[in-house]
Amino acid sequence: MSNLDKNIQYIKGVGEARAKLLNKLGIFTLKDLITYYPRTYEDRSVPKKIEELVDGEEALIEVMPVTRVSEVRIRRNMTIIKMSARDDTGVCQLTWFNQPYLRQMFRPGEYYKFYGKVSKKGSKVEMNSPVYDKLDDTKNTGRIIPIYPTTYKLPQTTLRRVIETGIHELDGSISETLPEYLVSEYKLLDLNRAVNQIHFPSTFDDFNLAKKRLVFEELLSMQLALLALKNQYTKDVKGIKFSKDAKMSDVINSLPFSLTKAQLRVLEEIDKDMEKDKPMNRLLQGDVGSGKTIVALIAAYKCVKCGYQAAIMAPTAILAAQHLESFNEILSSFGIKCELLISGITKKKKEDILQRLENGEIDIIIGTHALLEDNVVFKNLGLVVTDEQHRFGVRQRSSITEKGDNPDVLVMTATPIPRTLALILYGDLDISIIDELPPNRKKIETFAVTKGMDDRVNVFLKKNIDEGRQAYIVCPLVEESEEINAKSVMELAEHYKNKVFPEYKVEYLHGKMKPKEKDAIMEEFKNGNIDILISTTVIEVGVNVPNSSIMVVENAERFGLAQLHQLRGRVGRGEYQSYCILKYNGSSDILKKRMKVMTDTNDGFVISEKDMELRGTGEFFGTRQHGIPEFKIANLFEDIVTLKSVQAIAIKIINDDPKLEKDKNKLLRNIVDEKFGNRIEI
Ligand code: ADP
Ligand code: MG
Repeated sequence: MSNLDKNIQYIKGVGEARAKLLNKLGIFTLKDLITYYPRTYEDRSVPKKIEELVDGEEALIEVMPVTRVSEVRIRRNMTIIKMSARDDTGVCQLTWFNQPYLRQMFRPGEYYKFYGKVSKKGSKVEMNSPVYDKLDDTKNTGRIIPIYPTTYKLPQTTLRRVIETGIHELDGSISETLPEYLVSEYKLLDLNRAVNQIHFPSTFDDFNLAKKRLVFEELLSMQLALLALKNQYTKDVKGIKFSKDAKMSDVINSLPFSLTKAQLRVLEEIDKDMEKDKPMNRLLQGDVGSGKTIVALIAAYKCVKCGYQAAIMAPTAILAAQHLESFNEILSSFGIKCELLISGITKKKKEDILQRLENGEIDIIIGTHALLEDNVVFKNLGLVVTDEQHRFGVRQRSSITEKGDNPDVLVMTATPIPRTLALILYGDLDISIIDELPPNRKKIETFAVTKGMDDRVNVFLKKNIDEGRQAYIVCPLVEESEEINAKSVMELAEHYKNKVFPEYKVEYLHGKMKPKEKDAIMEEFKNGNIDILISTTVIEVGVNVPNSSIMVVENAERFGLAQLHQLRGRVGRGEYQSYCILKYNGSSDILKKRMKVMTDTNDGFVISEKDMELRGTGEFFGTRQHGIPEFKIANLFEDIVTLKSVQAIAIKIINDDPKLEKDKNKLLRNIVDEKFGNRIEI
């Protein structure tokens, strides 16, 4: 047995001071050390001839000194060591600073290897501070060298040596973490070899095999954990069995429009879930404007008709109020009582609502985080709908479900995610997708423009406003510095208000404002009393103002495409042709491609796929935003092929052994438990 828990301080050559530096990198134990993976690798295994060297590259040469080492003292504390060396194609000057001990290191007539950065001016070739080895050594050269993320105080070479020592101490004794049947069926490297080769690969093929094995394990444990969690909800827990007699069709037939095929399909899925005696845990995914709210409303109707209460949780007060309005419009004629619970209401009103909620007079409560408070008590909560899920964590989701007796849960999100990724982000939920917009939606015409176009954009805005429309102007929100951003919104607002559009009513909105102020402005905008609303992304989520038909986005280069798409969804919600103008700075190819994606398509799924392609998942899923656990080695985008196969494998394993209790899956149970405990938090 290896001792993976060993404190790194006691690894040979570490000690107290270095341990502190390693701790800063999150390395405390031997296990942390060997799972501290390289950021990249340098191939120092293939030598080049001097005549082939290119200015600026890092390269390996095999050369023979042709001069003795000369030492030049330039200042009191500064000496330069120089030496010329050659191969059969040319001569290279080697230079080091302050390393006088090198004087005795090299002997003319013998061959050495040097690896370093090449500088080439005309025919003069130099290498500065190269690392070196005797021809047969591989301490610093002659192999693929891992490069680790590290700090200035802990040099690459030291960290590399510590990791090498750590691996050496383990000496192949790490216990296998994957069951033998998986290792052999999928031709995976055994763990010891994988650890060895991920740090010090013999060849790039070996590296690939090592990476495959480690990525496989990381994704598999995540996927198994999610599926096991899903089973935990569904297999053991008894939920509410809503009656077949409460028919969704009653409310569907009362709507002023007919539902799309996609809406009907997801409603059927939801209806089936609700009628089962297991709690529903379903994700409803649909592009902005695809009509998710009405789906939630119909589910809530069924819940209430069966004698239970429903809770609808929205990310902002504005949105909650908007939902209340839509719900009342349709449900009041059925005698269903809806109320709003947000933090802005008076104490008296709040107490009244809480009272009526507890004794069952309120059927549907719509609100924000305020719904999570302890004093919110239901008589019999049957359904929880959370809107725009990425704003709430799983924890919050479960803290509201605990107010009922295993109520059904519907999570709605407008972030379109390719299915494979949805399985890892929301693997604990069943997934329904609305992949169709209501008919007669006009495409939002989108233009991407650079600086010099401001005047034309403003003329265009005026024309639309004069026709009676309203406009949004959005500027980027950098979360870390909301203070600064609030300022930039106000400055921009002043500029537009006084200089550009003095004849119109211009207002601004940003996250630093009090909820009450925000709501008041939004209300005014909704009522048509404001022509131009300048805002940070606080308007991103769901507000519905059909008369606003134009959106200008400042510094569009700072937004993710998925977010731009989300923002753009604020217009095009009424009968008018709508426009989105993306002002951007910069001229990189990637930026132009990103802008082109936006002008070419209105399809959220296409956009999110392109966005990922152009940015990589790392940024696409700001980990914070989505709350996905961080992966040490897997990358959801680069490793998509492995992810797909791992998902199929995980499903097979869980179907065969839902709780991973079988003997052959003992090791899998361990990795899942070790990573996520008994209950995962994502
Ligand atoms: P989402 O929440 O998915 O962004 P909403 O539920 O806010 O979308 O719907 C956007 C608008 O479309 C709302 O005004 C809604 O009443 C309307 N709507 C929803 N479904 C349909 C439909 N099948 N036909 C016509 N209009 C619809
Ligand atoms: Mg919505």
